[in-house]
Amino acid sequence: MFENLSERLGGVFDRLTKQGALSEDDVRTALREVRVALLEADVSLPVARNFIKAVEKKATGAAVTKSVTPGQQVVKIVHDELIAVLAGEEDGDPGKLRIDSPPAPILMVGLQGGGKTTTTAKLAKRLKERDGKKVLMASLDVNRPAAMEQLQILGTQIGVDTLPIVKGEDPVAIAKRAKTQAGMGGYDVYMLDTAGRLSIDDELMAQVEAVRDVANPRETLLVVDGLTGQDAVHTAENFDTRIGITGVVLTRMDGDGRGGAALSMRAITGKPIKFVGLGEKMDALETFEPDRVAGRILG
Ligand code: GDP
Repeated sequence: MFENLSERLGGVFDRLTKQGALSEDDVRTALREVRVALLEADVSLPVARNFIKAVEKKATGAAVTKSVTPGQQVVKIVHDELIAVLAGEEDGDPGKLRIDSPPAPILMVGLQGGGKTTTTAKLAKRLKERDGKKVLMASLDVNRPAAMEQLQILGTQIGVDTLPIVKGEDPVAIAKRAKTQAGMGGYDVYMLDTAGRLSIDDELMAQVEAVRDVANPRETLLVVDGLTGQDAVHTAENFDTRIGITGVVLTRMDGDGRGGAALSMRAITGKPIKFVGLGEKMDALETFEPDRVAGRILG
């Protein structure tokens, strides 16, 4: 198991002379431990480096408060900085989506297996139950009939309507039909669950672009497996460049990983993490909470 960062830093500072302020040497020694903790949590190397630089600036010369040990003080500075990066100043409430003018389209994008269809249904359930929204879901995964059926089954399970499946229709036509149906049926929101691929390819991106252009989504949410670390960040960069995403949902955060992908994701793409998936059940979706993830990264 990972050693707790606070314990580690406690050990480091026990060996150092007690002074009124954190010396450069104290800080450097402590930050070596922080760096290891970040890398163990699967934060990417450049992001860890920049992060350490920012903390170093804040920590060097900081007065040591009487009530806490130097180790605790560095942990606090690290924790605050983690939250500052994870939350982003301009993000606002991560759980709040721009879905004010009905019917508001939400485009769900991501690679196959990342949890897109499950997350579409989880989010639909949340919008219905918490926000009282009338939601319509549509699957655009024409190459995988099983995926279309999966969304329909989940819809029945959570009591949310899905657009009837019409064989042979292409994704753009389905998106247009969803828009019409959502307008006529008095829906507040319609969610488009786009097709995934095992890896990013041009055909996938061209298809999602075409759908985006007809739907003009208010939110484009990228769903990625939070356990895939660097790959998740790479996927996010690709989708953002090509499609333009408004937010990220990190799934499988119920797994064993330390969730360092969240920090890399936020630092590299600059896009807000809106929700985290915490299991397979339809209730297992929560608003992203920076302090919880920060605590987890620190161990
Ligand atoms: P898609 O191909 O991206 O649409 O992926 P699916 O929605 O079909 O999900 C793939 C698998 O991951 C399914 O078995 C889901 O139940 C599971 N899954 C999705 N989100 C989570 C999550 O947050 N935690 C866990 N443990 N499993 C998840």
